[in-house]
Amino acid sequence: MPDMRPAYPELAPYIDGRWTRGTGGRAIAVVDPGTEQVLAELPAASEADVEAAIGAAERAFPAWRDMAPARRGAILLKAAALLRQRMDEISAVMAMELGKPVADGPAEIERAAGLLEWHAAEGLRAYGRVIPAQAGLRQTVLRRPIGPVAAFTPWNGPGASPARKISAALAAGCTVVIKPAEETPATALLIVRCFEEAGVPPGVVNMVFGEPAMISRALISSPAIRLVTFTGSVPVGRLLAELAGRHLKPLILELGGHSPVIVCADADPARAAALAAKSKYRNGGQICVSPTRFFVHDDVYRAFADAFVAQAEAIRVGSALSPDTQMGPLANGRRRGAIEALVANAREAGATIATGARRIGERGFFYAPTVLTDVPEAAEVLRSEPFGPLAILRRFADLDEACRRANDTAYGLAAYAFTDSAKAANLIAERVDAGILSINHFGGASPEVPFGGVKDSGYGREGGAECFDGYLVSKLVSHLA
Ligand code: NAD
Repeated sequence: MPDMRPAYPELAPYIDGRWTRGTGGRAIAVVDPGTEQVLAELPAASEADVEAAIGAAERAFPAWRDMAPARRGAILLKAAALLRQRMDEISAVMAMELGKPVADGPAEIERAAGLLEWHAAEGLRAYGRVIPAQAGLRQTVLRRPIGPVAAFTPWNGPGASPARKISAALAAGCTVVIKPAEETPATALLIVRCFEEAGVPPGVVNMVFGEPAMISRALISSPAIRLVTFTGSVPVGRLLAELAGRHLKPLILELGGHSPVIVCADADPARAAALAAKSKYRNGGQICVSPTRFFVHDDVYRAFADAFVAQAEAIRVGSALSPDTQMGPLANGRRRGAIEALVANAREAGATIATGARRIGERGFFYAPTVLTDVPEAAEVLRSEPFGPLAILRRFADLDEACRRANDTAYGLAAYAFTDSAKAANLIAERVDAGILSINHFGGASPEVPFGGVKDSGYGREGGAECFDGYLVSKLVSHLA
């Protein structure tokens, strides 16, 4: 199938309602991972640009906070409609800068639009409460927007993550300065453009690109910024948490995962394997809730492993811009290098390569869907998150033991199980450390459910009824009349 290669958008920071130039000087290349060609130079922000964005967010805050939630919601609903109209354009840009297959783009944009709609509706229900007291005393708890927010979004969900963080902030009455990942700036730009065209006033949404350490330091240390929200890796999350701690800033952290899947003896191994392989290799496995460690009961192990490997080998890997591609390249050379190192380490430790473990083609960061079996405890991949197209199949005989091994990493984001036994499902729900447990399916986190992890996978929740937890603060008004 021929590629449909659209024009790559011109990159520009968005500050105080204007598309500007970025005066940081240092150029960072945005690379197409399918061709290794430079798509654009990132207009990097200087400290003065970041200060301008913070100033704009601070000035715009009082009027946005005081606007009726229904009016704010109407703007978000309009932005959601624009996102849907531009689904194909945004999907093509995600394919170019991330390598996400165009066929998978619309689902992410639909999710992004759904998040805007959810937050718009929840904004109408951000109720406070009245606490009973003696006659004449009225104790009212108001939920007030915390103030300007600094948001950092990753490259792996370049549409949904900015949409989620911007719309949560805006619906709560906060303003925002967002720094999208350097790898995927144009998707974020197209999302911000929808907010702009929907009528978001100048200064309410600001976007800067560039050198991440400088930008995060400038944003987090600014007294104007009242909340920090970050989605990305554990090491960067740790850095930002240290910085936020120093400046006493509350923080929402959505970090990585190393999700276990427990396939019990009563599960249908062919069905579980088909669903698991589809979920595993979506976005090249570069999803924080991607299943990675499969614990399969001895009784169904062989059937599951054979079916899983067959599914992995049938995945069509190719240009993300081809409509029939199921898996594109990995997002960058760093990611492919990380996978290669984990595979080499596992192989040295004695693991078996059931399939994959090789590059594909001469150009682009393509890597074959990979399955490892008989992985010894010493292998690093059992504890380090792969964040790539790598599945580890392991056996178990006893469910207690499987739960214990499922918890044997520092992560605790998502977990999955396949069983028709209520007893087994209950045990897994009680034992496995995770913020999200899905039983008998790999369904994505929809806007109405809370999303987040435990342990090193982070803290705070996004989505669901909890979606404004960080963005709104309770204020007691105790009034003796
Ligand atoms: P990495 O740790 O090298 O991080 C690179 C990314 O982090 C860049 O996009 C950069 O902008 C950002 N970053 C780096 N330093 C920063 C700073 N000081 N302030 C703000 N942002 C900064 O990781 P990687 O190889 O690009 O990505 C893989 C890892 O990312 C995986 O381990 C995965 O866990 C994690 N990740 C997690 C999620 C999630 O939803 N929890 C999403 C995407 C990526």
